[in-house]
Amino acid sequence: MIMSPLRWTRSLQLTLAIIKPDAVAHPIISDAVHQRILDNKFLIVRSRELQWRAKDCQHFYEEHAGRFFYQRLVEFMSSGPVRAYILAHEDAIQLWRKIMGPTKVYRSRITAPDTIRGHLGLTDTRNTTHGSDSVESACREISIFFPDFDVSRWYEEQEPLYRAGP
Ligand code: GDP
Ligand code: MG
Repeated sequence: MIMSPLRWTRSLQLTLAIIKPDAVAHPIISDAVHQRILDNKFLIVRSRELQWRAKDCQHFYEEHAGRFFYQRLVEFMSSGPVRAYILAHEDAIQLWRKIMGPTKVYRSRITAPDTIRGHLGLTDTRNTTHGSDSVESACREISIFFPDFDVSRWYEEQEPLYRAGP
């Protein structure tokens, strides 16, 4: 049997992206971040806006507990609404982190001015966006923000529907 050269498959990966309070407070900034999501052809699987309590932030960022910036981070992330997205793309985790840019504002401004943080980040704490850094953290973070969303089930049942057929 001759296979059509047009036959191809692809698989999607999920990540959690957050627009942080510094950006949600200014629609022109949050709209610009949203536009990056669209421009880069992410599939928006879910999205919600919510106000975090300090204890939610402590739990979410528990890997950083004890670091010098931890308290500042918790206060900032609970200072106003955030917008969370479950995004799907072929390389969602790495791609979103690339689009976000480096964590620290000086590094992002100087080495990656076209990234979200390079362009819009205010300080090392108020750096506009969050993105999961591994498959495991994406799974954990999605379930924190979207407790009704079953990641394993999405990969089993939904993701195959997006694969292109012949
Ligand atoms: P990310 O994965 O790029 O967001 O970076 P990390 O996981 O290392 O840190 C989580 C968040 O903590 C960052 O996005 C910043 O908001 C904050 N943060 C990290 N490092 C620093 C730092 O050196 N100084 C300050 N003020 N905040 C930091
Ligand atoms: Mg991180």
